[in-house]
Amino acid sequence: MNDIQERIENIRRRIAAAAARSGRDPASIELLAVSKTFPVETIREAVEAGQLLLGENKVQELLAKAPQLPAKLQWHLIGHLQSNKVRKILPHVKFIHSIDSLDLARDVDRIAAELGLHPQVYLEVNLAAESSKHGFSAEKLRSSLEDLYALRRLEIQGLMCIPPFDADAAKSRPYFVQLRELRDELEKTGGAPLPLLSMGMSHDFEVAIEEGATIVRVGSAIFGGRQAKV
Ligand SMILES: *Cc1c(COP(=O)(O)O)cnc(C)c1O
Repeated sequence: MNDIQERIENIRRRIAAAAARSGRDPASIELLAVSKTFPVETIREAVEAGQLLLGENKVQELLAKAPQLPAKLQWHLIGHLQSNKVRKILPHVKFIHSIDSLDLARDVDRIAAELGLHPQVYLEVNLAAESSKHGFSAEKLRSSLEDLYALRRLEIQGLMCIPPFDADAAKSRPYFVQLRELRDELEKTGGAPLPLLSMGMSHDFEVAIEEGATIVRVGSAIFGGRQAKV
């Protein structure tokens, strides 16, 4: 086994242990390997370790890499999506984690209808109201929910968040709790299930699992450090 394969095995073990600690079925938690900035040769090593769910944060990068890798891979877009790139990306992704405004949701819905698609999406919530990040505020999401549910092409599966970075994973916990509680609230008021929670990264995925994550987005703990912060 090479380094990447060992790291994936290790992360899978840690996911299973975090699930066991919180009385959850490990099979209810998916690992999304975030391959941004890494070349296809490196990603191939992850694929050989059985890693089929891959995440990219940029449309161009995803579109450049996907055709060079096996068709069985499931691509997830996790970064901000500009409206003028929706048409290009929709046919290539299984999930969009970053529906961060009602305007974007409307564009995705309209273009999905034109393309005959039913995209599965997460609504991104900017819990700490950081100006550097995209996403609905909790308040905005509450007031937009009816309009979002009127978009019949969108399969809204759950919520996503990126807490403010802190090397101490314990600092992320209150945000993960908030996202779960917001989900519970919106399920009641919206009358529709939101089963999935996309939360947790390399430094805090175990805490996220303890608080209900159904998919963790792990990059550097699998592929190593990235050159620049992206
Ligand atoms: C880069 C990125 C990740 C992965 O971050 P790591 O700290 O490398 O695990 C997760 N989610 C999003 C939205 C990202 O952009």
